[in-house]
Amino acid sequence: MRIELENLEGGKGVFAHVYRPDELDPVDERIRLTEPAAVNGQIRLSGHDVVVNGHIDTRAQVDCDRCLKPVELPVSADFELEYITGSDYESSHVAELTDAEMSVSVFDGEAIDVDEIVKEQILLAVPTRMLCREDCKGICPECGMDKNTGECQCVTDDIDPRWAALKNLKTE
Ligand SMILES: [Zn+2]
Ligand SMILES: [Zn+2]
Repeated sequence: MRIELENLEGGKGVFAHVYRPDELDPVDERIRLTEPAAVNGQIRLSGHDVVVNGHIDTRAQVDCDRCLKPVELPVSADFELEYITGSDYESSHVAELTDAEMSVSVFDGEAIDVDEIVKEQILLAVPTRMLCREDCKGICPECGMDKNTGECQCVTDDIDPRWAALKNLKTE
Protein backbone atom coordinates (compact mmCIF):
# COMPACT_ATOMS: atom_id res chain seq x y z
CA MET A 1 0.00 0.00 0.00
CA ARG A 2 1.30 3.40 -1.00
CA ILE A 3 -0.11 6.64 0.33
CA GLU A 4 0.04 9.40 -2.28
CA LEU A 5 0.67 12.71 -0.56
CA GLU A 6 -1.36 14.69 -3.09
CA ASN A 7 -4.45 12.73 -2.07
CA LEU A 8 -4.18 13.76 1.56
CA GLU A 9 -6.94 16.16 2.52
CA GLY A 10 -5.72 19.03 4.66
CA GLY A 11 -2.25 17.50 4.74
CA LYS A 12 -3.20 14.56 6.88
CA GLY A 13 -4.93 11.23 6.83
CA VAL A 14 -5.37 7.88 8.50
CA PHE A 15 -4.65 4.45 7.10
CA ALA A 16 -5.37 0.86 8.04
CA HIS A 17 -4.68 -2.37 6.26
CA VAL A 18 -4.49 -6.07 7.04
CA TYR A 19 -1.77 -7.85 5.08
CA ARG A 20 -2.11 -11.53 4.36
CA PRO A 21 1.19 -13.24 5.30
CA ASP A 22 1.95 -13.96 1.63
CA GLU A 23 1.49 -10.29 0.71
CA LEU A 24 4.59 -9.40 2.71
CA ASP A 25 6.63 -12.56 2.30
CA PRO A 26 9.42 -12.78 2.59
CA VAL A 27 9.88 -10.10 5.21
CA ASP A 28 13.29 -11.66 5.67
CA GLU A 29 14.70 -15.18 5.07
CA ARG A 30 14.40 -15.99 8.76
CA ILE A 31 10.92 -14.70 9.43
CA ARG A 32 7.62 -16.34 8.46
CA LEU A 33 4.34 -14.69 9.35
CA THR A 34 1.79 -17.07 10.82
CA GLU A 35 -1.02 -14.53 11.06
CA PRO A 36 -2.13 -11.53 9.01
CA ALA A 37 -0.29 -8.32 9.85
CA ALA A 38 -2.61 -5.51 10.87
CA VAL A 39 -1.32 -1.97 10.57
CA ASN A 40 -3.05 1.29 11.30
CA GLY A 41 -1.78 4.80 11.71
CA GLN A 42 -1.79 8.43 10.83
CA ILE A 43 0.14 10.44 8.33
CA ARG A 44 0.62 14.18 8.31
CA LEU A 45 2.59 16.73 6.39
CA SER A 46 4.74 19.02 8.45
CA GLY A 47 6.34 21.58 6.19
CA HIS A 48 8.44 19.54 3.77
CA ASP A 49 8.52 16.62 6.14
CA VAL A 50 6.08 13.77 6.46
CA VAL A 51 5.41 12.20 9.84
CA VAL A 52 3.93 8.72 10.00
CA ASN A 53 2.99 7.01 13.21
CA GLY A 54 0.99 3.95 13.99
CA HIS A 55 0.86 0.44 15.27
CA ILE A 56 1.38 -3.03 13.86
CA ASP A 57 0.27 -6.43 15.16
CA THR A 58 1.01 -9.92 13.89
CA ARG A 59 2.66 -13.21 14.82
CA ALA A 60 5.90 -14.49 13.39
CA GLN A 61 7.79 -17.75 13.33
CA VAL A 62 11.58 -17.99 13.48
CA ASP A 63 13.80 -21.05 13.77
CA CYS A 64 15.70 -21.60 17.03
CA ASP A 65 19.38 -20.75 16.46
CA ARG A 66 20.50 -23.98 18.10
CA CYS A 67 17.97 -26.75 17.39
CA LEU A 68 16.21 -25.18 14.35
CA LYS A 69 12.79 -25.85 15.86
CA PRO A 70 10.29 -23.17 14.83
CA VAL A 71 9.50 -20.66 17.57
CA GLU A 72 6.44 -18.47 17.35
CA LEU A 73 6.27 -15.03 18.86
CA PRO A 74 3.84 -12.13 18.89
CA VAL A 75 4.92 -8.97 17.10
CA SER A 76 3.40 -5.78 18.39
CA ALA A 77 5.08 -2.47 17.72
CA ASP A 78 4.38 1.24 17.79
CA PHE A 79 6.26 3.36 15.32
CA GLU A 80 6.86 7.00 14.58
CA LEU A 81 8.83 7.82 11.48
CA GLU A 82 9.87 10.98 9.77
CA TYR A 83 10.41 11.28 6.03
CA ILE A 84 12.10 13.98 4.07
CA THR A 85 12.89 14.22 0.38
CA GLY A 86 16.35 13.46 -0.92
CA SER A 87 17.05 17.06 -1.92
CA ASP A 88 16.01 18.42 1.49
CA TYR A 89 18.19 15.83 3.08
CA GLU A 90 21.21 16.87 1.08
CA SER A 91 20.77 20.60 1.57
CA SER A 92 20.09 20.60 5.28
CA HIS A 93 21.14 17.39 6.95
CA VAL A 94 24.20 15.87 5.37
CA ALA A 95 26.60 18.32 7.00
CA GLU A 96 25.62 17.37 10.52
CA LEU A 97 24.40 13.85 10.95
CA THR A 98 23.42 13.37 14.54
CA ASP A 99 21.91 10.27 16.09
CA ALA A 100 18.46 11.80 16.09
CA GLU A 101 18.63 12.46 12.38
CA MET A 102 19.58 8.89 11.63
CA SER A 103 15.97 7.86 12.28
CA VAL A 104 14.85 10.09 9.43
CA SER A 105 14.11 8.29 6.17
CA VAL A 106 14.47 9.71 2.71
CA PHE A 107 11.56 9.30 0.30
CA ASP A 108 10.67 10.38 -3.23
CA GLY A 109 8.43 13.25 -2.14
CA GLU A 110 5.33 11.69 -3.66
CA ALA A 111 4.23 8.68 -1.70
CA ILE A 112 4.89 6.72 1.47
CA ASP A 113 5.25 2.96 1.05
CA VAL A 114 3.39 1.36 3.95
CA ASP A 115 4.51 -2.16 2.93
CA GLU A 116 8.10 -1.14 3.59
CA ILE A 117 7.20 0.32 6.99
CA VAL A 118 5.44 -2.88 8.02
CA LYS A 119 8.33 -5.10 6.90
CA GLU A 120 10.86 -2.90 8.64
CA GLN A 121 8.89 -2.85 11.89
CA ILE A 122 8.58 -6.64 11.88
CA LEU A 123 12.33 -6.95 11.31
CA LEU A 124 13.04 -4.58 14.18
CA ALA A 125 10.63 -6.40 16.51
CA VAL A 126 12.02 -9.91 15.98
CA PRO A 127 15.22 -10.55 17.96
CA THR A 128 18.27 -11.27 15.78
CA ARG A 129 19.14 -14.16 18.06
CA MET A 130 16.33 -16.58 18.79
CA LEU A 131 16.30 -19.57 21.15
CA CYS A 132 13.33 -21.88 21.73
CA ARG A 133 14.28 -21.73 25.38
CA GLU A 134 17.14 -20.22 27.32
CA ASP A 135 18.93 -23.55 27.85
CA CYS A 136 18.25 -25.16 24.47
CA LYS A 137 20.83 -27.93 24.00
CA GLY A 138 20.77 -27.80 20.23
CA ILE A 139 21.25 -30.71 17.87
CA CYS A 140 24.06 -33.26 17.86
CA PRO A 141 26.54 -32.40 15.09
CA GLU A 142 27.20 -36.13 14.54
CA CYS A 143 23.75 -37.74 14.27
CA GLY A 144 21.45 -34.72 14.11
CA MET A 145 19.43 -35.74 17.14
CA ASP A 146 17.62 -33.02 19.04
CA LYS A 147 19.49 -33.13 22.35
CA ASN A 148 16.55 -31.55 24.16
CA THR A 149 14.70 -34.84 23.73
CA GLY A 150 17.45 -37.07 25.12
CA GLU A 151 21.10 -38.02 24.86
CA CYS A 152 22.42 -39.80 21.80
CA GLN A 153 25.33 -42.25 21.84
CA CYS A 154 27.75 -40.13 19.83
CA VAL A 155 31.10 -39.36 21.37
CA THR A 156 31.56 -35.69 20.70
CA ASP A 157 33.93 -33.22 22.16
CA ASP A 158 31.15 -30.93 23.21
CA ILE A 159 32.70 -29.51 26.31
CA ASP A 160 31.16 -26.27 27.49
CA PRO A 161 33.57 -23.55 26.19
CA ARG A 162 33.86 -22.15 29.71
CA TRP A 163 35.20 -25.49 30.98
CA ALA A 164 37.34 -25.97 27.88
CA ALA A 165 39.31 -22.89 28.88
CA LEU A 166 39.81 -24.37 32.31
CA LYS A 167 40.95 -27.67 30.85
CA ASN A 168 43.61 -25.92 28.79
CA LEU A 169 44.91 -24.25 31.91
CA LYS A 170 45.33 -27.58 33.65
CA THR A 171 47.27 -29.24 30.86
CA GLU A 172 49.73 -26.41 30.51
ZN1 LIG B 1 16.12 -24.77 20.38
ZN1 LIG C 1 24.53 -37.80 18.15
